[in-house]
Amino acid sequence: MWYNNILETIGNTPLVRLNAITKDVKATVLAKIETTNPGNSIKDRMAVKMIEDAERDGRLKPGGTIIEGTSGNTGMGLAIAAVIKGYRCIFTTTDKQSKEKVDALRAFGAEVIVCPTNVDPEDPRSYYSVSTRLEREVPNSWKPNQYDNLSNSKAHYEQTGPEIWEQTEGKITHLVVGVGTGGTISGAGKYLKEKNPNIKVWGIDTYGSVFKKYKETGEFDKNEIYPYITEGIGEDFLPKNVDFDVIDRFEKVTDKDAALMTREIARKEGIFAGNSAGSALAGLMQLKGELKEGDIVVIIFHDHGSRYMGKMYNEDWLRERGFLADEKLTAKSILSR
Ligand code: PMP
Repeated sequence: MWYNNILETIGNTPLVRLNAITKDVKATVLAKIETTNPGNSIKDRMAVKMIEDAERDGRLKPGGTIIEGTSGNTGMGLAIAAVIKGYRCIFTTTDKQSKEKVDALRAFGAEVIVCPTNVDPEDPRSYYSVSTRLEREVPNSWKPNQYDNLSNSKAHYEQTGPEIWEQTEGKITHLVVGVGTGGTISGAGKYLKEKNPNIKVWGIDTYGSVFKKYKETGEFDKNEIYPYITEGIGEDFLPKNVDFDVIDRFEKVTDKDAALMTREIARKEGIFAGNSAGSALAGLMQLKGELKEGDIVVIIFHDHGSRYMGKMYNEDWLRERGFLADEKLTAKSILSR
């Protein structure tokens, strides 16, 4: 038995019970670990779906160039698919992203342009503007636009949702997902609610992002927007892939809680996950009082810890941000404990 190419290995990711961090949570908590995808993240699913939908309706032509503003994981999925399918990739990203993520994209032959983070999306230097300009100027190019391209949430409606339903034998009661473009939560959540409308869908947001306030008040409040450290989730605009009708509520998590929980997942559960897994689990723990015996919660772990070695898995990085109060470990400090 073999796969014809690496893209065929995408999906069918494991669902693993969390035991230690969640020991005083009444529900069973199951993490869907998306790191076994070839690009080590859930975004492989939607990257291939966006490309194949665009090939089908002629937006992407043979030998074309894929241009996208991406924080890394979508780029990885696109870059891998581009290798197999013979496209060129140009990505724009921000200087907030891990250097490891940018280097990983370049490993697959993608060209990456790093743009400043703290400028408005309309600013010509922003990664949105630069990718839009390149799309206009590079011949035979196509911009997937993961935020508004509904092939993104469809991938999760067709794959992630059904996998979760089958893996829990239809017993899932809650879906907990960090929200960025909204593709994962909206697609998987829609599928699951069609199967059982009683399933609760909780979105995890970050301080500095607009989703929670918008869901609760219908108001797009610019005061909610400020720079934050958490990667992969939260936005300063409303992507079309966020289906607010599918999401029952949002919970916000601080950068510090997200970073420290990411580390706890490795230390207590033996799962090496990325920053948004920490956000999602910290958010779930904030809401644990609402869960009861017999509930089955599925939480998405979007990507792999290796992309955050210079960040939450680095003690100096944590200390510089005041996230870690303890002293540097020395033989003396260990012996004096
Ligand atoms: N976590 C990580 C690490 C991500 O890269 C993303 C995508 N931005 C998300 C969570 C959020 O997923 P989605 O875009 O499907 O809402």
